[in-house]
Amino acid sequence: MKAFDSTQLYFNRAADQIDLTDNMRRLLLIPKREIQVQVAIERDNGEIASYIGYRVQHDDARGPMKGGLRFHPDVDLDEVRSLAALMTWKTAVVKIPYGGAKGGMAIDPALFSLRELETLTRKFVDGIHDVIGPDVDIPAPDMGTNAEVMAWFMNQYAKYHGFSPACVTGKPVELFGLPGREEATGRGVGIFTYKLLSRLGRKPADVRVVIQGFGNVGSHTAKFLTEAGYRIIAVSDVHGGYYKPEGLNVPQVLRYALEHKGSLAEYPDAQAISNEQLLALECEVLIPAALGGVITKSNVDTIRAGIIVEAANAPVYPDADDILAERGVVVLPDILANAGGVTASYFEWVQNRQHYQWDLNRVRQELDRVLSQSFERVWEISVEKKVSLRTAAYIIGIGRVGRATVLGGIA
Ligand code: NAD
Repeated sequence: MKAFDSTQLYFNRAADQIDLTDNMRRLLLIPKREIQVQVAIERDNGEIASYIGYRVQHDDARGPMKGGLRFHPDVDLDEVRSLAALMTWKTAVVKIPYGGAKGGMAIDPALFSLRELETLTRKFVDGIHDVIGPDVDIPAPDMGTNAEVMAWFMNQYAKYHGFSPACVTGKPVELFGLPGREEATGRGVGIFTYKLLSRLGRKPADVRVVIQGFGNVGSHTAKFLTEAGYRIIAVSDVHGGYYKPEGLNVPQVLRYALEHKGSLAEYPDAQAISNEQLLALECEVLIPAALGGVITKSNVDTIRAGIIVEAANAPVYPDADDILAERGVVVLPDILANAGGVTASYFEWVQNRQHYQWDLNRVRQELDRVLSQSFERVWEISVEKKVSLRTAAYIIGIGRVGRATVLGGIA
């Protein structure tokens, strides 16, 4: 199944619950605008190389469109389209005044020098600057991009449009960024996991957690959950996983990753396993925090976790989701689970527009408040309508976007 088909299927399940008409479904599903631009650079060895940059702007009924910029070899238009739609439902579930978008380039950033990455980013901005902006579409970091990339992005955008720090979020704190933005997605995943486990009556000491991906989201999730008293028994990155049944020393793993450019390769104090083995470990909570499509029909029977928290976007495909539901596995959906990032991005945008720097305490307080309220609403709808947490989140998201679309007028 392709990525966009999967998002569409989840959408339709919720749309059935609220009797959404076929015309409204079409209106809400078709992206507003899709952009492809050529991004050509001269590589360090003198070769000319060209790539395709994508930006899909899905919906703006509730506000300017918002979504990450991904540098990863698997990026294609279908995936970007699916991720853009997820952003529309996500911003609506947490009730921040944004629509949804996403962008990316099919490159492996590890194979480019810093100079090449900077040039790629600037050339991409050259291609899309006139269809983005603080009131139109605001990119942010995603897989393979970070605060440094956002700083280049802002700087290049300013060459066309003047000083506009709100044109992009996830910037370095010293350069109009928000204290706490970097940790926000992982912190949010941690808050939601804690809330879900509390609702299910599970005590931190009895919960073993497995995390796939140890980048921005995975590492901050591990840190937050360790501080909350949970036992992290395995983590992984693109090269493989590290497993310790009695619990990893997470501060030590974090230090190791920091000292090895983010890589866990050859981490000494745990058993090395593959990413497939990691997903199949016996645990209470499994948190995919890397790529989409990692739990599908072909490996779902190996999954032994009772709870899956979708920190990554679209890690569980619908065919696997159905089997997990039959087995009573609780899945906390991406459009809620990883919404801490876009919520903090919203605070950064507000801060930039106010020209007033927020402090970390305020960011954490506001983030915790927005995420807690969103969790409670999704839980309520799930109980009230006897549907999964995913369908409940979609019902809320689609309802809010649908109402805004109708109120704005379609004529
Ligand atoms: P990142 O680039 O910082 O880290 C990605 C991690 O995944 C790295 O540890 C990498 O080694 C690992 N990885 C890559 N390919 C893998 C593979 N094939 N198997 C196993 N591990 C692999 O990215 P991130 O920002 O942490 O994003 C992770 C996920 O969270 C993505 O799905 C992203 O869309 C989602 N997300 C991120 C944010 C954010 O604020 N960064 C917000 C919402 C959602």
